[in-house]
Amino acid sequence: MKITFLGTGTSVGIPVIGCDCRVCQSQDPRNRRWRSSLYLEAGGTHILIDTSLDFREQALRFRVPRVDAVLITHSHADHIFGLDDIRRYNTIQGSIIPVYASPGTVADLKRIFSYINTNLPEPGVFRPRLEFKEETGVFTVGAITVEALPVVHGKTETYGYRLDWEGWSVGYVPDCKTMPEATLKRFEGVDVMILDGLRHRTHPTHITIEAALELLTRIGAKRSYLTHLCHDLDHEETQETLPPSTFVACDGLTLTVGQ
Ligand SMILES: [Zn+2]
Ligand SMILES: [Zn+2]
Ligand SMILES: [Zn+2]
Repeated sequence: MKITFLGTGTSVGIPVIGCDCRVCQSQDPRNRRWRSSLYLEAGGTHILIDTSLDFREQALRFRVPRVDAVLITHSHADHIFGLDDIRRYNTIQGSIIPVYASPGTVADLKRIFSYINTNLPEPGVFRPRLEFKEETGVFTVGAITVEALPVVHGKTETYGYRLDWEGWSVGYVPDCKTMPEATLKRFEGVDVMILDGLRHRTHPTHITIEAALELLTRIGAKRSYLTHLCHDLDHEETQETLPPSTFVACDGLTLTVGQ
């Protein structure tokens, strides 16, 4: 499996518009964060998790060659407002692209992107051709087994995803306040776990770094990564405080899991 972090920032991105703080003004490129999204390739299947507001720039800079399926964690703007740019892959691949999400998220997507459908009569009109699919459990996308796992992120119905391929596994939860016990159990022992690490101060819908580290200890992944950071956190300083095998993700970071 090959993983690319397309974005690792919270909803406003870093730098934050109009902010003079030292992280927003930092010269360290790891402190520049696009909105959170992950790209994963295994066995010839290419999965995009979330279509961030920055998707077009992410696809260009990090070279996203194809998208066989999109998984959406939840319908907050930072995770879905790049969806329209998926139409480019309709053209490249000559096919309709499935978009998997919870029933509530699919309802939101159909309302927000009401102009998207799979039957386009007008030649020369390049609207996305997407098939929205409600999923609540385990399903397969090409060579990859996907499991949708509910997490608590305010009132918005939100999923984390576990992805398995040939005995290798990855967990991805960019937005969460708390994790139900049943979900936590399904992430236990994954090879790579990627979790919300917004900031140290408490937030109504996001976990703190301290609580994230406790969860990661219980999950016990071989490697753990924090994502969806806000501008309270300098990359290098935060990394120095983390336990072994736990890392701050950054945009463009790639990981190989198994082959
Ligand atoms: Zn978010
Ligand atoms: Zn700032
Ligand atoms: Zn969110």
